Amino acid sequence: MKAGVLYKAHDLRLEERPRPAPAPGEVLVQIKAVGICGSDMHLYEEGRIGNTVLEQPVVLGHEAAGEVVELGSGVTSLKVGDRVAMEPGIPCRQCAYCKRGEYHLCPDVKFHGVPGNDGYFAEYATIPADFAFKLPANLDYVQGAMLEPLAVGLQAATEGEVRPGQSVAILGSGPIGLAALQASLVHGATNVIVVDVVEKRLEMAKELGASHVVNAAHTPAVQEIARLTGGLGADVVLETAGAVPTIQQTLYAARRGGVVVLVGIASQANVPLDVVRIVRSRMQVRGCFRYVNQYPVAVSLASTGKVDVRSTVTHSFPIDQLTEGIEFAIKRKDVAIKCVVTL
Ligand SMILES: [Zn+2]
Ligand SMILES: [Zn+2]
Repeated sequence: MKAGVLYKAHDLRLEERPRPAPAPGEVLVQIKAVGICGSDMHLYEEGRIGNTVLEQPVVLGHEAAGEVVELGSGVTSLKVGDRVAMEPGIPCRQCAYCKRGEYHLCPDVKFHGVPGNDGYFAEYATIPADFAFKLPANLDYVQGAMLEPLAVGLQAATEGEVRPGQSVAILGSGPIGLAALQASLVHGATNVIVVDVVEKRLEMAKELGASHVVNAAHTPAVQEIARLTGGLGADVVLETAGAVPTIQQTLYAARRGGVVVLVGIASQANVPLDVVRIVRSRMQVRGCFRYVNQYPVAVSLASTGKVDVRSTVTHSFPIDQLTEGIEFAIKRKDVAIKCVVTL
């Protein structure tokens, strides 16, 4: 089978690899659509993301959907021909976190498409049957692939405990910010303010139901969020940009007693924060990492039309143009929101 293997930064090769065989409890999926994620772009550009460094060649891609073509022994929940979305982080199921139901915190999770575990920019991949979610007839493969970023957005709104009638400020209007916007609306937020510096992304936020959009290139975001929340600041702030200045801004964008959820990962681990404000404003700053039990939620929200997972997809590339697709996604943020690879 064809697979897109990253050897080092800017060295991605499409090569022939043996088609994997499903182990007991797994299914073999013929991949049909894979989203290009910010983490794929970081790995391609820098050979690292956060403290994860590329040491061995790896197949990137973790936002995938495809067709089940072979069953491992013991699989009864799926059949050949089923169309599925693939949850890419496979936990150990044994550790204290898995036992607590917090499997996204499993220290032994195998997250596919990051260094150490081959991902889904390939013609085939295996997956445990219970991490392959059957797509309803009204969702296609591209929509199935987009359930992964939606799951991240749902986790952000869940961590922020977004409730009906609340104000939510979302810093960053990329695919994750836009997913967090849709998730916040599903949670009942009535004043959702989205901040970015790319006009195209703000237009998309407006289309998806943002109450207000703020272009931080011309408008001071914190003052504008205060103005749009009656001088208070937002009940919940979701940081999805992963940039040092926006991480620092979260504390001033939130109201006293508000909740700040950090979703984006900055290029530096240590970011100076106004801890006096955290204490004196009784602010709650929370981390949000991947997602837990969100795929079934994402499937039902997408298939009932409560969330539009196709809207953010702006470009698609065949697998033979994987490198071009990743480079386009990196260089053309003025027009590209979510790029997908189709097979
Ligand atoms: Zn992703
Ligand atoms: Zn575990």
